[in-house]
Amino acid sequence: MATDTLTPFYLGSAQVRGKLVRLGDQLDHILKNHSYPQIVNHYLSELIAIGIALSINTKNDGLFTLQISNGKILKMMVVDITSEGEIRGCAKWDNEALEKLLEETNNSPSLTQLFENGFLVFTADLASQTERYQAIVELSGSTLTDCMHHFFRQSDQLATGLVVATKSDPSALGYSAAALILQKLPSSSEQTEAENEQDDDDWITDLSLLGTVTKKELLDDNLSAEALLYRLFHEREAHILPAKNIVAKCYCSRPRIEQVLMNFSEEDIKDMILDNQISVTCEFCNETYLFNDSQINEILADKKS
Ligand SMILES: [Zn+2]
Repeated sequence: MATDTLTPFYLGSAQVRGKLVRLGDQLDHILKNHSYPQIVNHYLSELIAIGIALSINTKNDGLFTLQISNGKILKMMVVDITSEGEIRGCAKWDNEALEKLLEETNNSPSLTQLFENGFLVFTADLASQTERYQAIVELSGSTLTDCMHHFFRQSDQLATGLVVATKSDPSALGYSAAALILQKLPSSSEQTEAENEQDDDDWITDLSLLGTVTKKELLDDNLSAEALLYRLFHEREAHILPAKNIVAKCYCSRPRIEQVLMNFSEEDIKDMILDNQISVTCEFCNETYLFNDSQINEILADKKS
């Protein structure tokens, strides 16, 4: 199976579009780079797969972000996706509170316990649009998929069906995740009532077919995307479009970090100096950038100019 791909497709007369995301090595690369606790890896894997399924649209160039913010114990989780298929992700949590919660719940806390007060935020920064699109919805549901369905209803998205699966075997094979999404495009105003009814009936069929997919099928290394989509949707004529590769890649750089430092006050910059240097580590990829005395002075001088 070709892992780390996004396979777009459409059903019937293209009123329903879908994407199948399958992640292996590249997801593994992100998670192993962080060494987060298992429960964090689980939710971050799901968020990354969902984020990719939501974002990449062959017609739009830009940057997409799916984020959970303001959580009480798992404070923040984010995945960035470029239209090129480059992804990066990270998470922040209260370690002491998480350990206590894991102990109290025998390692199986509910989503609500982990993300209490959290919000789902989806941002699309498209090259073709001057203003970015952002939707923010309260996190509500017992699984991330439930939360996403709530999000789709609340944020005026297209009618959407979504299934997600993750697997972790840190001892040997590493992590994998998959997401399958279907979206119903709005009916054209030229359609007759009978055609609209047919679209609605088809949509109900599509959702029930989507509901038959198993976690095992989604994550099965020996079942290609084509074979899986054919198995699920053959009665609805699945038209499969060229797949896109997904790559774990951070786009942090020294100039970007310098720009971030420039936004701090002179006093704050001086407070960051330790052993005559400033060390900044990218939260996404753990790359460390060091600034020595003269480089710090240059940044301070640039700030003044
Ligand atoms: Zn980075």
